[in-house]
Amino acid sequence: MTKLHNAPHPVTIPTTDGRAFPVRRVYCVGRNYADHVAEMGGNPKTSAPLFFTKSRETIVANGAVIPFPTMTENLHYEGELVVAIGAGNAIFGYGCGLDMTRRDLQAAAKAGGKAWDMAKNFDHSAPIGALTPATKIDLAGAALETRLNGKMVQSAPLSHMIWSVENIIKSLSGFVTLAPGDIILTGTPAGVGQVQPGDEISVSITGLETLSVSYATSTP
Ligand code: MN
Repeated sequence: MTKLHNAPHPVTIPTTDGRAFPVRRVYCVGRNYADHVAEMGGNPKTSAPLFFTKSRETIVANGAVIPFPTMTENLHYEGELVVAIGAGNAIFGYGCGLDMTRRDLQAAAKAGGKAWDMAKNFDHSAPIGALTPATKIDLAGAALETRLNGKMVQSAPLSHMIWSVENIIKSLSGFVTLAPGDIILTGTPAGVGQVQPGDEISVSITGLETLSVSYATSTP
């Protein structure tokens, strides 16, 4: 059969023990830390967490220098815990991730009652660090920290998540069939902010590999 084009390579995320985790779908949770819901102008008591998606091709490896995105004057970082689903809906492992967001496009979409896709699901919008197998980590008491050019801008215990990882998986499973290879970015705490060309962002979570990416100095 004639091939119509060269299919892209499968997207994988490295694991801390030297394996490759092939990615299926990428889900994200919005509004999962009360202080972030408040900073976005929402009411934590009435804002139910919501789910949205990114394409797996948006994943960027740890250490990458990322081209600055087009079509935004207000690119934001959101540091997040990443959960990777293995066989039987079990958690395969955890990593540090960034849910990069064109905040201006998101605000316009919200105001117009329109879809968020171009605010969230754009090229290079999901930097994710190596996955630590769940059998090798206990996240009880762990905290998430995001640094912009070395300065701490987000800091929260994972216990501040409104919906626990277990409840996220339970809820999301009601909407879609989860399968091995699925990735879930579990939401961001307060302290989101703007990224400029040349900035470096790092996300660390107790016991996991720190994720660090930077943005190219010139815009396309
Ligand atoms: Mn997010």
